[in-house]
Amino acid sequence: MIGYTKSTTVPSSLKRGVRANTDNCDAYDADPTAYTKGVAKFDISNGIYGTDVVKRRLKADQHDKCGFCEAIFDANVAGDVEHYRPKGAIDTGGGKIYPGYYWVGYAWNNLSYACPDCNEYRKRDRFPLAVEGARARSHHDDLTKEEPLLIDPYGEADPRQHIVFRGEAPIGLTPQGTITIELLALDRTTLGRDRLLYLETLSVLYESVVLLENDVRPDAVDFVARVRAQLAAAVLPNAKFSAAAADHLTACAAGKTYLPT
Ligand SMILES: [Zn+2]
Repeated sequence: MIGYTKSTTVPSSLKRGVRANTDNCDAYDADPTAYTKGVAKFDISNGIYGTDVVKRRLKADQHDKCGFCEAIFDANVAGDVEHYRPKGAIDTGGGKIYPGYYWVGYAWNNLSYACPDCNEYRKRDRFPLAVEGARARSHHDDLTKEEPLLIDPYGEADPRQHIVFRGEAPIGLTPQGTITIELLALDRTTLGRDRLLYLETLSVLYESVVLLENDVRPDAVDFVARVRAQLAAAVLPNAKFSAAAADHLTACAAGKTYLPT
């Protein structure tokens, strides 16, 4: 997981959400109990927050990668516009809290792009906090008092300070890192297999450079330069699994390997 910088221009379709959000806040104020009991629910419209323009902008900001697992997956399955703070309910693990963070359902700073495995099957409505009592329950409450335990790919904190990789395995360095790995199953088998195959390829490239870096034959010099360029590209933000790649290549340079032998 790495951090991303969101485009400053709010996508045009979200501007329609400003009015819709005002209406939702007014509806809540007219009968808060109905919403907190889950009897009345907000219809946060996918036709506003999930439009092609929003998704395209998020995909561009995230280099086509899932904001959580860094996979590039859209050749096989469409991605989701994901709400960092869940819009319709909050799943605490012991039950659901209503009405969810309805007032940021159309907020640009609450959206990211995610693969279905991370978003639909793992995260869903979960949004754990360090102190449950600080949770904002309506648009009258202060979100800044919350201490989320799920890392926001667009947040102020660098995800790399919370999660490192030993080979293909993510390791939590902080409570936020550990809970994010667990909540999203960033260590799931399918993802670990893809990361492992990729890191093994990077290992071969790295070893090729070590083997040939003193070879003065022009073809060898050219080959080493091209491989070095590939390795340098693998740790850039637009590369898949860039955090795992960076930690793996750092380990290689230190003479360590955490990959299975
Ligand atoms: Zn993902």
